[in-house]
Amino acid sequence: MSEAAARWRAVRDQIDAECQRLNRDPAGLSLVVVTKFHPVELIEELLAVGARDFGESRHQDAVQKAAALEGRDLTWHFVGQIQSNKARPIAQYADVLHSLDRDSVVDALATAERRVQGFIELNLTDDPGRGGVNSADEMLRLAERIAQTETIDLRGVMAVAPLGMDPPQAFERVQTFSAILTQAHSSAAEISAGMSADWEAALAAGATHLRIGTSITGNRPQPR
Ligand SMILES: *Cc1c(COP(=O)(O)O)cnc(C)c1O
Repeated sequence: MSEAAARWRAVRDQIDAECQRLNRDPAGLSLVVVTKFHPVELIEELLAVGARDFGESRHQDAVQKAAALEGRDLTWHFVGQIQSNKARPIAQYADVLHSLDRDSVVDALATAERRVQGFIELNLTDDPGRGGVNSADEMLRLAERIAQTETIDLRGVMAVAPLGMDPPQAFERVQTFSAILTQAHSSAAEISAGMSADWEAALAAGATHLRIGTSITGNRPQPR
């Protein structure tokens, strides 16, 4: 077994143990391995031991990996910022888009050739220039637009805990946003939150999709 495969097993075991402690069914949880900047071979190693969900953040890399692994039993998650002119091409290989954050992206997806699942990205920082919606009003408005888009199945909210914010506090805010969203869109109850350093806090706050990179893949090679 490769080092990455062994780390995947170890993280999976930790998550299962944490689920048991929290009385949650691990079957209801997606472990998305974020493989950005890593080669296709690493994904092959993880596929060999049973990993099925992979996340990428740059279209130009993701599209190549998706082509290289075409026909394999895996689900691609797109977790990076989406430029609106890349939204349709991303939807050709990615099944789940975690970072819907504005009208232009949603409108571009309206003409996608495949149906995708989508999460609304929340911006929990004070910097309005970051990806993600800044308020519940903005979230609800975007959710309404998504609901009117036949090609997007709205699953819930996604967030990254900001640097310098206590993760439990950040994920509590995510839970509040999620509760507001589900009042209007009852089937959009999923939460994409939690990375290598903070997934336990995210899980405790109801995360359904953990996006874990380095603690499985090892350190990322420098981006090209
Ligand atoms: C890179 C990335 C991750 C994974 O981060 P790690 O700290 O390596 O686990 C998760 N979510 C997003 C949006 C990312 O860009």
